[in-house]
Amino acid sequence: MPARTGKQFLEALRRPRDLWVNGEKVSDIASHPALFGAAASLAEIFDLQHQAADICLMPDPETGEQIAVSHMMPRSKADLAARHRALQLVAEYSVGLMGRTPDYMNVTYAGFAARADEWAVPNNDRGAANLVAYQKFLARNDISLTHTIIQPTIDKASGDVPMPGNDVALRKIENTSHGIIVRGARILATLAPFADEIAVYPAVPLPQGSDAYALSFCIPAETPGLKFLCRDSCSTDRSRFDHPLSSRFDEQDAFVIFDNVEVPRDRLFIDANWTVYNTVMTTGWYPNIMQQTMIRAQTKLEFAYGLGCAMAEIINDVSPATSQLLGEIWTYAELTRAAVRAAEDEAFDYGQGVWFPHGGPLAALRAILPSWFPRVGEILTLIGSHNLLATPSEAQLSDPELAKLAGIYLRGAKDVSAPERSRVFRLAWDFVGSALAGRNELYERFYLASGARNYSLAHALAPKQRGRRLVEQILGLVPRLLRVEPDEPRAVIGLPRNIPRK
Ligand SMILES: Cc1cc2nc3c(=O)[nH]c(=O)nc-3n(C[C@H](O)[C@H](O)[C@H](O)COP(=O)(O)OP(=O)(O)OC[C@H]3O[C@@H](n4cnc5c(N)ncnc54)[C@H](O)[C@@H]3O)c2cc1C
Repeated sequence: MPARTGKQFLEALRRPRDLWVNGEKVSDIASHPALFGAAASLAEIFDLQHQAADICLMPDPETGEQIAVSHMMPRSKADLAARHRALQLVAEYSVGLMGRTPDYMNVTYAGFAARADEWAVPNNDRGAANLVAYQKFLARNDISLTHTIIQPTIDKASGDVPMPGNDVALRKIENTSHGIIVRGARILATLAPFADEIAVYPAVPLPQGSDAYALSFCIPAETPGLKFLCRDSCSTDRSRFDHPLSSRFDEQDAFVIFDNVEVPRDRLFIDANWTVYNTVMTTGWYPNIMQQTMIRAQTKLEFAYGLGCAMAEIINDVSPATSQLLGEIWTYAELTRAAVRAAEDEAFDYGQGVWFPHGGPLAALRAILPSWFPRVGEILTLIGSHNLLATPSEAQLSDPELAKLAGIYLRGAKDVSAPERSRVFRLAWDFVGSALAGRNELYERFYLASGARNYSLAHALAPKQRGRRLVEQILGLVPRLLRVEPDEPRAVIGLPRNIPRK
């Protein structure tokens, strides 16, 4: 089947699943008040790939059918540039607010399958073959996939990884004639209500002896025993004028319980294989997926800059303080753009002819963005001030008497009408002050491990020789270098959670 349309995506969501919003087990996702806005948006993203087929679609290398470009296994810088364009178009649809549009998992699994040889050793030929077959299934059926890779926190002092005997973390219970039974929980499945399937793959390396926890698989969301507990909804069913973002882009996050779930043999990629679990994520995964996440981040920062400019313009705020603040947002956006371009420019063959961006600039970005994004929210709040709340609603503005008064008291500078002003400041409030804004800030802080862990990773990967030489040179311990050396090779591999807390 070629790339799906929005209608096909929504039809597939009708399959019953054990998904809870508040005290209600949801029977119809596409029409549920907490979910229909994001469902409709994701459907539009599926349609978008047909509207911009020249950017978003490509022929399947084996069948020739049109599939999403996000399933590409890049084999050159030109491939990465083509993928960049497709990822950017999807990011622009939600101005970067939806972090886990299906392209996130598409890129992840294309990267995994492209280096299936890494999944095969030791003693995992079958798991690797299952993975390759699954990636084709994912691409050819244009599946929407959620994922859970983090263990739940019960006692933070006991560490990040499940020690043998842990009865909370997801683990293998037994073999069956068709596969295995798993039990336990994982966090945090963003996109869960809108996903056809759920993926489990490695994150924190496991200690020796915890093979039962070393699992990777993908199964349909309706698999018996799978339970999704959605967080409180940030979605509002009020008008787009009133809530331009939270009426559309609450992608949801769910706690996932695997209550004796059978995983079929052909969907198992790692079956209690400790070595494979601890190694497969430490090579190309991070730089590969970060092309998607950082294009999204760049888009969101550029949107924030545009929004700040619009806010200032509407109230004719030309103060030096505000222009400094706007310049600060632009600086973050430009540095993000430059780092993404640098990573793509320095892309290389990670083995088997598969090209990913250089991980260095992306690792640096990933460490700093959990600070930049909250600061951007603060800047927009400072520029917006009380104006963020002096925003008549669509219903108020459609009352003739109130509309007339709003035209006098709530208009903007230079003939900006009250509805125009209200629309922009409502957008700003939805971006920095609404429930969705709070969730989105949490997302930016943590979606790919905390800033603290990413700084530790950045330090671990950082080249050390040049800095050391400069220190020794200024102290006169080594002779001054009279030539300019090429950039020191930078490590690109690693996983943020590899870095221990202590
Ligand atoms: C909105 C949202 C959506 C998410 N979606 C998904 C998803 O779709 N799939 C999925 O699998 N997971 C998802 N996650 C989970 C995410 O991967 C984890 O939240 C992330 O890995 C952070 O885990 P943690 O709480 O253990 O953070 P930690 O890294 O333990 O951070 C917690 C606190 O400890 C501090 N800390 C940690 N390490 C150090 C250190 N070395 N030194 C000093 N301080 C330190 C941090 O600064 C932070 O304050 C999501 C999370 C959020 C918030």
